[in-house]
Amino acid sequence: MQADETLPLLLKQLSLPSMYAHYASQADEASSGHWSYTRYLSCLCDLELTSRRQRRMARYIKASKLPPGKTLSCFDFKANASINPAQIEALSEQTDWVRAGHNVVILGPSGIGKTHLASAIGYRLIEQDLRVLFMTTMGMVELLQKARAELKLSALLSTLARIPLLILDDISYAKKSEMETSVLFELIAERYESSSLLITSNQPFSEWDQIFPDTTMAVAAIDRLVHHAVVISVQGESYRKTHSMDKNLR
Ligand code: ADP
Ligand code: MG
Repeated sequence: MQADETLPLLLKQLSLPSMYAHYASQADEASSGHWSYTRYLSCLCDLELTSRRQRRMARYIKASKLPPGKTLSCFDFKANASINPAQIEALSEQTDWVRAGHNVVILGPSGIGKTHLASAIGYRLIEQDLRVLFMTTMGMVELLQKARAELKLSALLSTLARIPLLILDDISYAKKSEMETSVLFELIAERYESSSLLITSNQPFSEWDQIFPDTTMAVAAIDRLVHHAVVISVQGESYRKTHSMDKNLR
């Protein structure tokens, strides 16, 4: 068999779909442009890597369950002077805090942009090849409780530990009076110093004894969370409120 005939079969067998799709057109370009053999091969490898990366990003974004559209490009930093754009940029562009298993806690009243910021950071980190999972804290507590009832909690915690950044939105909505929240402590303890958490909360730490079954557990959870953490306190008026007022005024 001629190389022209075997090459596509080999590329298929090696699961190199982009090289397979482009080997012929690139060969034409290579011969008209007098490319070296290495240039031709590296061009094909480059195409394969680029398309793999794009497919991986799309997979990560889908799996992350991040709220659609809440990215940095549509976040208006001028709307809230208490948010430091450089700090958010650094958390978005630098992956070292995630690789070190450090945490971020965003505190502040409702409607101020906490969920948007958390998601925006998540999207940027995915672009840098990190897996992220976004969940409401209540959703996570339910998931953990179900796993515990089925004696699968430690398996679930191990699966979650393989996701470098877990975003838990609205921790203060998880109330000990309504849910069995000790699983949340187990999650925080399991991830301590190994995989990151980004948590948003409407309530300051002083109110977190409403979340955990007792004050000792609340203190132990906060201790582990903030030992290596950036805590961002956002203040001011709700963006939702001021912008719906703007619209009404217009
Ligand atoms: P929180 O989580 O603090 O309650 P959200 O992040 O849900 O607030 O923000 C409420 C709404 O306002 C969302 O639609 C969000 O996209 C928008 N929003 C908040 N702050 C800003 C901002 N600075 N720039 C653009 N949109 C914002
Ligand atoms: Mg929110």
